[in-house]
Amino acid sequence: MTDPTDTRDTGPRAGTPLWAFLAGITVIGFTALVVAMLRLDMSELVELARTPLFWVLAVLVILGELRPVMVSSAAAVGGTYPSTMFTFAVLLHFGLPCAVLMQGVAVAMNGVVTRKSWHRVMFNIAQSTLALTAAGVVLGTFGIVPSPALPWVPSGGNLLAIGLAGIAYFATRATLVCSAVALHERRSLSRVLRATVGPQSLVYAGLLGLAPLVVVVMSHSPGLVPLFVAPLAAVYFTATLSMRRDHQAMHDELTGLPNRKLLIVSTEEALAEARQDERVGLFLLDLDRFKEVNDTMGHPVGDRLLQMVAHRLTHSVRPGDVVARLGGDEFAVLLPSIRDTHAAREVAARLRAALTEPVRLEGMTFDVDGSVGIALYPDHAPDFELLLQRADVAMYLAKEGRTGVELYQPDKDRNSPERLSLLGDLRRAIDNRELRLHYQPKVSLGTGAVQGVEALLRWRHPANGPIPPSDFVPLAEQSYLMRQLTAYVIDEALEQAARWWHTGLRVQISVNISARDLLDSALPERLEVGLAKYGLPPAAIQLEVTERILTGDQAYTQETIKALATLGVPLAIDDFGTGYSSLIRLQRLAISEVKIDASFVSRIGESEDEERIVRSIVDLVRSLGLRSVAEGVESDEVAIRLADMGCDVAQGWLFCEPMPAADAAAWLRDHTEAMPKVGLGYTPEITRTA
Ligand code: C2E
Ligand code: MG
Ligand code: MG
Repeated sequence: MTDPTDTRDTGPRAGTPLWAFLAGITVIGFTALVVAMLRLDMSELVELARTPLFWVLAVLVILGELRPVMVSSAAAVGGTYPSTMFTFAVLLHFGLPCAVLMQGVAVAMNGVVTRKSWHRVMFNIAQSTLALTAAGVVLGTFGIVPSPALPWVPSGGNLLAIGLAGIAYFATRATLVCSAVALHERRSLSRVLRATVGPQSLVYAGLLGLAPLVVVVMSHSPGLVPLFVAPLAAVYFTATLSMRRDHQAMHDELTGLPNRKLLIVSTEEALAEARQDERVGLFLLDLDRFKEVNDTMGHPVGDRLLQMVAHRLTHSVRPGDVVARLGGDEFAVLLPSIRDTHAAREVAARLRAALTEPVRLEGMTFDVDGSVGIALYPDHAPDFELLLQRADVAMYLAKEGRTGVELYQPDKDRNSPERLSLLGDLRRAIDNRELRLHYQPKVSLGTGAVQGVEALLRWRHPANGPIPPSDFVPLAEQSYLMRQLTAYVIDEALEQAARWWHTGLRVQISVNISARDLLDSALPERLEVGLAKYGLPPAAIQLEVTERILTGDQAYTQETIKALATLGVPLAIDDFGTGYSSLIRLQRLAISEVKIDASFVSRIGESEDEERIVRSIVDLVRSLGLRSVAEGVESDEVAIRLADMGCDVAQGWLFCEPMPAADAAAWLRDHTEAMPKVGLGYTPEITRTA
């Protein structure tokens, strides 16, 4: 296990509980070390040092101390050093003094190589000495007291003694390190233990369990001992790999900060742990002029700026606080325990001060500024989602009033009571799964074949009746509910796709997502997991994003787009033509379909301008090798003109309106086979009744 002071170069402040603990353990540990050394017979040691086995072991212990096996990226769970296996073997074979000496030298050398501060090295020597001493004492009670002159080789009958010694070793290390972590991060010891002991005990069981075998091999043929490096390396690399994956899922790639997922987990933990007299603070930070820097200086400079900001923020909070990047230039800070609003404001002011210090990049100085919104539990909200929303409201106030820092104030909540209550209703509707998806087919203009369906949200409010998505989706988009809404739609659509695909109706379902969703790095994973759960190919789903993503800050959405492309889930650009975006940008994104906005399509035949626009979009889309889809096709005439232009697919009331899943299924079964070609008797009257 690593010690908690690993994150800091300076030691804990004198007089703090952590300082007292570290100092106390260091003193006790070194006393144990001295006692052990006094029991070491120098002539025996010199004798031992003449044997090659001693040096083989010494090298293995030192090498094993260089890098820990990491089993989890959770902050409190440190690594486990492979040297444990060999020092425990030395303890069994040559006795405690020898083991303590080797371990101490190895830890000290590790400290020099990795340039750890001396107090860290001292604590590590102390805690590993105490662990070995605990194990040595247990062995002693079984009458096992080996020495270099009288080495001990275990046999099957000694399993109990070895097992108990191993447990004593692990228990000592776990308790010492977890206590330090708990004091450092101001968390309860039991929680740190719970988070740590599980994964650590497995690695320790593996390392300590092999130690008696090392001893047997040592006594049989020392030359074979290095063979133990092979299984050790295997464990090391598998653990490192899985740890890296773990880490990636929970951290932001650019800044290395925890991502939203980890923030949610940490916040929920903090809320569960919160004491009566304390508060949990959630801050939302947004850089004020980041977009300008990004646009004028380019994304690489923007990226570096974000990294610097991340660095500054993490150094402005206490250990145990969590600085996370939510995406773009949005950061969040979690304070698991804060006294009152005054203290929260102080921390916020400090964070903001860290931001406002000018940044030098590429020989230029940038004045960055940020706005901080504060929401406190339990004062402002009972859970993570609402805390974040309230912090968002506060941040908006800070931005608008140019005050820099604002605490959430219910009476200043710009969300009008109606909007808030609608948001609340929407939240409940999502929780109770009251929202429905309707499906509207997309039909090939060339062959009349169904090309897929678009899923469109329908909400029947218990009191106000049906509310169109254009009324509630934009509202959700401005709040943290959007993620939940999109997650809901994706889950529903996948479930429906599974029902259809597994009954032979292989129709692609397009799901609308908002530009904000592309900032969510968890989106590709949600899709991947969902597709796997239902045994669906990636092409069973398509995502539709509005054209706005082409005009906005693409850099941060691109990661998600790339991940989606890797996953194989196709992407469509929705409402194309409304955003005046550069068409060339289409090419840079992995897009398979462009949907031409209904406002142009519906005026084909009425306005020559609109018709020309549609024709040029169709041409361009074709030249880029993409599929063009016309939205809002209401008449046969428009469909025929679109077909003439070479538009690939059409969607609209001409074919049918969005309908509930059961109706859509019936319609699809009727139309998947021989659908007449457009313009060949395909009249609205017939199809509308479908
Ligand atoms: P959209 O993605 O462009 O969806 C097409 C809209 O055109 C739908 O409106 C559909 O009912 C309507 N429509 C279909 N055929 C015709 C036609 O022939 N003529 C006309 N005038 N309209 C037609 P809807 O269902 O009211 O949805 C409106 C918008 O709300 C959608 O536009 C989409 O941006 C958003 N939306 C709907 N469902 C979702 C969702 O699940 N998630 C997200 N993020 N947005 C959604
Ligand atoms: Mg759409
Ligand atoms: Mg559209």
